[in-house]
Amino acid sequence: MTTTPRYDLSTENLDRAIARLSEALGADAVLAAPERVAEFHDPYEGEGATEFQPSFVVQPASVEEVQAVLRIATELRIPVWTSSVGRNFGYGGSAPVVSGSIVLSLRRMNRVLEISESGAYAVIEPGVRFFDLHEAIKASGAKLWMSVPDLGWGSVTGNALEHGFGSTVHGDHASAVHGMEVVLASGEVVRTGFGAASGSADGLWHRHRRGFGPSLDSLFFQSNFGVVTKIGLWLMPEPETFVSGWLAVQSEEDLAPVVDALRPLVLDGTIQGLPLMMSALGTPGVPPGDPSGEASLSILPLPVRYLIRYSFYDRAPLAEARSAIVREALAGLPVHVDERRYRGDAAQEDVDPIDWLPGGIPNMKMIEDLQAVAGEGYAHIDFSAVIPFDGASAREHEAMIREVLGEAGLTGAFAWITNSRTLVGILMITFDVNDPAQAARAREVAKTLAHRAAARGWYEYRAHPSLIDDVVKHFDFGDHSLYRTYGLIKDALDPAGILSPGNHGIWPSGAGAS
Ligand SMILES: Cc1cc2nc3c(=O)[nH]c(=O)nc-3n(C[C@H](O)[C@H](O)[C@H](O)COP(=O)(O)OP(=O)(O)OC[C@H]3O[C@@H](n4cnc5c(N)ncnc54)[C@H](O)[C@@H]3O)c2cc1C
Repeated sequence: MTTTPRYDLSTENLDRAIARLSEALGADAVLAAPERVAEFHDPYEGEGATEFQPSFVVQPASVEEVQAVLRIATELRIPVWTSSVGRNFGYGGSAPVVSGSIVLSLRRMNRVLEISESGAYAVIEPGVRFFDLHEAIKASGAKLWMSVPDLGWGSVTGNALEHGFGSTVHGDHASAVHGMEVVLASGEVVRTGFGAASGSADGLWHRHRRGFGPSLDSLFFQSNFGVVTKIGLWLMPEPETFVSGWLAVQSEEDLAPVVDALRPLVLDGTIQGLPLMMSALGTPGVPPGDPSGEASLSILPLPVRYLIRYSFYDRAPLAEARSAIVREALAGLPVHVDERRYRGDAAQEDVDPIDWLPGGIPNMKMIEDLQAVAGEGYAHIDFSAVIPFDGASAREHEAMIREVLGEAGLTGAFAWITNSRTLVGILMITFDVNDPAQAARAREVAKTLAHRAAARGWYEYRAHPSLIDDVVKHFDFGDHSLYRTYGLIKDALDPAGILSPGNHGIWPSGAGAS
């Protein structure tokens, strides 16, 4: 990939930027020493990486400081790469598409601005982590629950803007965002929905989906059209009862009928939240298909071929009714059902750790488990394809993955998020970050899978920077009219092209992939 000389990434100019930003924001807002910048690289890039390299990091603490950063970056013609907390592991962390970009890290903007129990929403800045929001809700005494992804250390905002997923009723995190504040490249601050009315009262901005006129919110997800500085996030009222259910499926042949039986239960809302279907694809270091590996893959807490997690959040009699409907729908199928029941106000120590995620409790268990199996060099690159919600597609998808991984002698952790009408397959292709040959093979496998999936009509919902071109080139309807439209919006909002160029394949004119 090459870019045109529209940017000045010379050492002198970057030094000038460090001086200007230090003057405007204070020296402690600028991290330029290599050991401070290290954690803003792709955490899984390995030694000697040359692509996706940040130059230095700037950490504004307010909207005004974000505006100052964008002004200086525009003047000096240096791209900035927006990152909230930067834990986008498997998808590049904080690493920019254009090497030499400044990482605009929003970690210091970490205030929980409001928690409304009656409106069941929170208003947060982008540096707020899942751990922080959970703690703030508990401290406020509000009877509200949040949704969390596997790891609690990431940004709630960054994860939602990346279309990330958790497990509870608001587990489709992007759909939980209602009303945002965005700084455009020009420095203009825009509030969406009813936030655009300066007299907007009583949290209307965050209580109501959309506002008056076109809804702009989606423009700022998976894009480079602005820097999001506040979001409203819908939360769930604390349920009386929380039921965590687990379905154990013992063989590949048995998967499809169980998936097909689950679909209507997810579609009609009997099963709440986003069930997760985990596959024992293989254990890191053990070739896929080796039975000694199938039982011990660390994302599965039980030695079975598939484990499907589902949940109910309800008043006790309604939860029991849901449970009875699920059992009846699965009766006669080759599946073992197990359920645990908790009070909605149960303390973390009273919830089995395997139920923390559907229980909305942020934690770090999954990465600890993966590192325990694969060692400190654990790394992965994601292949995240979306397929229809049906058993035959799931079988075909997994067979494709096993074949490509098997040819490369690699393995990974694999699960599908059931997202109403689709299954979102998350394959974490595992490699040892200290083994360059294995790392290169893992990246090749991710590309091969992107192409194999596209040939089948399936595409990724999210991708590491090294895979973006492989995903975007398939979005070719109308001679790539969607991406040409993105380009028009990009040029209108950010004529200097300084905001995260190349993010999700969106480039200003005169720069980009060649
Ligand atoms: C073991 C493991 C398990 C994982 N499990 C999950 C999971 O269950 N669910 C899941 O979704 N992910 C998962 N991930 C992937 C990833 O770790 C999380 O999605 C993580 O939350 C993303 O990092 P972040 O929240 O800090 O976002 P950030 O890294 O801060 O942001 C992500 C991206 O969003 C954009 N962005 C961020 N902030 C802004 C802003 N303010 N304005 C405009 N654009 C912005 C940028 O493009 C940025 O690169 C997992 C990773 C690992 C290693």
